[in-house]
Amino acid sequence: MVSRRDRKVGLVFDDRYIAHNSGLFMIAYREQYPFPEPLPHPSSPQIATRTKQLLDLFGYTDVMQRIDAYEASDEMLLAYHTQDYLDRVRDVSKTGGDVGNGAPIGRGGDRIARYAAGGVAAGVDAVMAGDVHHAYALVRPPGHHAMSDRGMGFCVFSNVALAARHAQRTHGAERIAILDWDVHHGNGTQDAFYNDPSVLFISIHQEDLFPVGWGPLDQLGEGDGTGKTVNIPLPAGSGNRAYMEVMEQIVAPVLRQFDPGLILISAGQDASVEDPLGRMSLTTGGYRSMTRMVRDVADEICDGKIVVAQEGGYSQHYAPYCSAAIAEGLCDGLSGFQPVEEPYGPRAESMPPSRRIGLDSRAAITAALETHQQYWNL
Ligand SMILES: [Zn+2]
Repeated sequence: MVSRRDRKVGLVFDDRYIAHNSGLFMIAYREQYPFPEPLPHPSSPQIATRTKQLLDLFGYTDVMQRIDAYEASDEMLLAYHTQDYLDRVRDVSKTGGDVGNGAPIGRGGDRIARYAAGGVAAGVDAVMAGDVHHAYALVRPPGHHAMSDRGMGFCVFSNVALAARHAQRTHGAERIAILDWDVHHGNGTQDAFYNDPSVLFISIHQEDLFPVGWGPLDQLGEGDGTGKTVNIPLPAGSGNRAYMEVMEQIVAPVLRQFDPGLILISAGQDASVEDPLGRMSLTTGGYRSMTRMVRDVADEICDGKIVVAQEGGYSQHYAPYCSAAIAEGLCDGLSGFQPVEEPYGPRAESMPPSRRIGLDSRAAITAALETHQQYWNL
């Protein structure tokens, strides 16, 4: 195996992602914020911009290999989405508007969303070809809520589900694992593979947050796919210790037993302690540790093949640091890589939920273990 020093890590980023126009803040996606000063949409371009700036300022991009995104073709998108939906996105893109339930795009948004799906696929291409071991696709708009026939929750195309299918069809990968740690449930990704035993879907999320009704323990897949959907709902307030316990006791053993040829991470940094759209308590340290753990498991079972795809993350000041911590988790140990100590670390780490496992989190982890032991040796 190639030593960590000599490993390569790719970064997918495209200026088009910044041009994705989600508009202004809306109340329940219908009514504009009533105050005179405009407020940006939570999924605004600034967070991705700042994330890229941090990666540049920290020098992380200097050791990462640039990977060019491309525009996803109709054929790629039809691996999950319907032709009617593709037509609708193309139409709405002429003027700007909503392509589903709270999935705003601006003029020209169809092409940008195709570059987001194609960006994750480009990361898959680079990893599967062996050009890099791990890749981070810093894309916008995100994808994991998008359903086959409509956008949802800021997501237009199901970037990660499409990338999994792309890996199977173009690169002959047999089994793909998807780990979704966005604070919200990855309903679109779950739907795409619910009866498909070749794609494992693991989701750690705040219970019953969004979309309501998705992601309880008893949504386990169906038919041949039964057991290959692994939902791990956690109560609000869960932090680093609870997440790491889930990673050690459920995620890592399930990944090893499934033995995929590629691991995709739907990386939402909205489980952070500073996030306005979630109530979890992860810190940069938590994101760094989770990334390292998946990286080490990937090194064991699939020669390090990981593609991290950006999903949510809405803290204007903290989400970029969480994303940088993920990049650090992929890059540490590489020749020439110098991790940067970020300013929020000590303050965030001092918050109790990031250090302790509350009784509710403990009960949720026990319940998840009992459920998933039906299908996995945990
Ligand atoms: Zn989210």
